[in-house]
Amino acid sequence: MSTFIGYRCSLCVTQYLPGQVTYTCPKDGGNLDVELDYDAIRKKYQPEDITSRRDFSLWRYEPLLPVGVPKGEATPLHLAGWTPVFGLPRLAEKLGLKHLWLKDESRNPSASFKDRASAILVARAQEINAEVVVTASTGNAGAALACMSAAIGQKAIIFAPKSAPPAKVAQLLIFGAKVILVDGTYDDAFDLTVKAADEFGWYCRNTGYNPFTAEGKKTAAFEIWEWWTAAQKQEAPVSTQTPLTVFVSVGDGNIISGIHKGFKDLLALGWIPVMPRIIGVQAEGSAAIANAFQANTEEITPVSARTLADSISVDLPRDGVRAVRAAKETNGTYIKVSDDEILKAIAELGRMGIFAEPAGAASYAGLVKAAAAGVVRSDDPILVLNTGSGLKDVKAAMQAVVEAPVIKPTLSALKKVL
Ligand SMILES: *Cc1c(COP(=O)(O)O)cnc(C)c1O
Ligand SMILES: [Zn+2]
Repeated sequence: MSTFIGYRCSLCVTQYLPGQVTYTCPKDGGNLDVELDYDAIRKKYQPEDITSRRDFSLWRYEPLLPVGVPKGEATPLHLAGWTPVFGLPRLAEKLGLKHLWLKDESRNPSASFKDRASAILVARAQEINAEVVVTASTGNAGAALACMSAAIGQKAIIFAPKSAPPAKVAQLLIFGAKVILVDGTYDDAFDLTVKAADEFGWYCRNTGYNPFTAEGKKTAAFEIWEWWTAAQKQEAPVSTQTPLTVFVSVGDGNIISGIHKGFKDLLALGWIPVMPRIIGVQAEGSAAIANAFQANTEEITPVSARTLADSISVDLPRDGVRAVRAAKETNGTYIKVSDDEILKAIAELGRMGIFAEPAGAASYAGLVKAAAAGVVRSDDPILVLNTGSGLKDVKAAMQAVVEAPVIKPTLSALKKVL
């Protein structure tokens, strides 16, 4: 039984049936929200029917997803999601906070949050018998699509800017995707991908264009809900009245929209008592969504993006309106951080045993600023997301640390540098 009943445009609220549209609203180009039959879900499932499952991947949430689990044995596609949450007591103390955790999305099969979206997308591609899937990507979305596709033998084509970090390009190639490097920005690659998909009949995964990516990303909200429900039972001092505050780094705005959608699903089902607070973090040099939020408008004005956090470097965010709402409708906000603050955050997380790429550490950099500015209070329970692994961008990582000394292999040389 599928509970996927259609789409609703986030701008003009027109509803469409599942087979009627594929990407954005034909009337105004608005992003489409996937609609589920909440009554049918509620009739059939209790929260415990989900939380007692032995499937430790995002597929444990199949009853709340618009696609079925792809058949076959466990592959990376079947094992996306279910990432760990770590406590950060030393950083909490430093920031004057009582309750701080980090959810580590670098533990996904291709080492970023994007696997959630791509897993659902590839499942959808199989259901509609798409021969080829294609995406534009700054690197991670492509690596995720290439990985999930390789896992079950789906053909994938990836368009990335030629400036993408080498490790990400290596992932694309190793996973056997057809890789096209575009002499231009991510935004140029995005527009070309849409045209190419149209011309050749490929199924396009583009972020903020295909409505299924947010449905994959919402599974992080479901995991946060399960973890937080369990954590509150164990941690008596954490009041159930204070909502959890979640920090998310934002580029196109699809992760933050997806997480918001997940919490909205849970609220509609009556499975969470309060909406968590969602705080978006953007790089100063790529802050079109934060700018709109701060100007209290849903009008997204493009910027000329410049930041070392390549995964959140976007001129025109493709999911900007829903991303503004994610903060606005949850009593959250947006915070901008500089590249220097991001590099500091990489180093601080590193000292806790967590290796984040620049976009992954941006959320923690945002928390540092939010704590100093009083945007969060000392007893607020806070979760930051690390969205990607530091191994994906070693060049940026080396800017966050002092290089190691090179010495002659003698004790006297060693004594000089100790
Ligand atoms: C894609 C990405 C983001 C931002 O996600 P959006 O949906 O573009 O806002 C953040 N961090 C990492 C590591 C990413 O790959
Ligand atoms: Zn519309």
